[in-house]
Amino acid sequence: MRVRFAPSPTGFLHIGNARTAIINHLIAKKYNADLILRIEDTDMERSTKESEKSILEDLKWLGIEWTEGPDKDGGCGPYRQSERFDIYKKYSDRLVKEGKAYYCYCSAEELDEMRAEALETGRTSTYNGKCRSLSAEEKQKFTDEGRKPTIRFRVEENHEIKIRDLIKGEVIFNSDNIGGDFIIVRSDGVPVYNYIVVIDDLLMKITHVIRGEDHLSNTPKQILIAEALGFERPVYAHMALVMGDDKKKLSKRHGITSVALYRSEGYLPEALVNYISMLGWASETGEEILKIEDIISQIDLDNLAKSAAVFDFKKLKWMNANYIRSADDEVIYRQLLPFLSAAGYDISSYDENFLRKAVLFSRNYCELLSDIGQHMEIFLNDKPAVDGETEELLKSEAGQLIINSATEVLENLPDDSYADQFVDVIKEKTGLKGKNLFMPCRAVITGRMHGPDLADTMKILGRGKCLERISYFKTRYPAG
Ligand code: GLU
Repeated sequence: MRVRFAPSPTGFLHIGNARTAIINHLIAKKYNADLILRIEDTDMERSTKESEKSILEDLKWLGIEWTEGPDKDGGCGPYRQSERFDIYKKYSDRLVKEGKAYYCYCSAEELDEMRAEALETGRTSTYNGKCRSLSAEEKQKFTDEGRKPTIRFRVEENHEIKIRDLIKGEVIFNSDNIGGDFIIVRSDGVPVYNYIVVIDDLLMKITHVIRGEDHLSNTPKQILIAEALGFERPVYAHMALVMGDDKKKLSKRHGITSVALYRSEGYLPEALVNYISMLGWASETGEEILKIEDIISQIDLDNLAKSAAVFDFKKLKWMNANYIRSADDEVIYRQLLPFLSAAGYDISSYDENFLRKAVLFSRNYCELLSDIGQHMEIFLNDKPAVDGETEELLKSEAGQLIINSATEVLENLPDDSYADQFVDVIKEKTGLKGKNLFMPCRAVITGRMHGPDLADTMKILGRGKCLERISYFKTRYPAG
């Protein structure tokens, strides 16, 4: 079995294409099949090397492993369409020779007129067949005029094209409804996607074409080409499109759609792969967080999703938080450090042991890796900024009572339980309770009224640092 992912390098890898890549990857893993990466770069104006590079980087980051591609020769290359023009030419020459395709000399103006006429008269094909049977003299005349011909594929009338699609079931098209004779090679000699995709899929021995439903309407043209060339067809599976919450095709209007941006925002590739795979398939057990091995064991060619999936940005974030919490300590620590630096902290200036403990504790509160800076502030900023409400609290009677007793209380507690007993002993000493007790206790250590468990926070900070914080607040809000 051989599947493929065939991106056009005309921009960033976005969610829709990433889903196609991920589903092909999972299916390839499941069946121990080859995954071929083919770069469809015949749109010379829009294709760029930078885009190809970024797509490859994003695929690698997602953990997608292709067995053959531009960087991995498997004997079916080249794997960039722009490097295969001589191959395509052989086949277009053959189609012309066999009368299945022909040179068309119509100018842009003539084609515009035909289109308008088709609209007016209700003709189903936009092209009126003008160049279908030109004589040698007529062709010569056009050539002498300097016209550069396109090559058009001759579409037989009223021909039924049946597609047995693994997801859609049987889909039937009539050749009368696909716009008429279509161009397979443009006048500048560049061949057209619908034509070359067929040749590539055959020569690259693709057995299963799994792609987005937006390509379903291209499939009849591709089948006609395959029939004309006498090629065997691959099995098709067209996945329903990914939608935004308004049930329109997912686009930038809905939120982030580029994989590269998800990466820089601090999503984990495992979370993205898990979530995106669910846009093409659903676990029978209804479980949402699944290891890739479990997805591979459950996913199958006959259980790919039939209906459109709505991309739920919140769910993805929730899933990411789950992955951050349950990731291997060492791995997540290494992944979080660059985000901590980006938040402005000089990582090398902290004791490594302390930093690790604080980071591994704070990761439990991060939805994104980039949240780490904000959660680490209570550990790394020894002179925390205090908001108005907290300042009021520290200046209040309860705040002052706590500021004034905290040092003595903390100094006299035993080493192994100072953090756990701190609030209780302050309570005994001051008689304060509830919010008046808990909030100032937290504020004299962290500068904030809310936050993660105070005893845990104090243990990570260590008694020395806690005492320093208290004395800082004492100087800042002296009794008086
Ligand atoms: N190059 C096409 C695209 O990026 C994919 C073609 C295909 O999968 O057949 O949409």
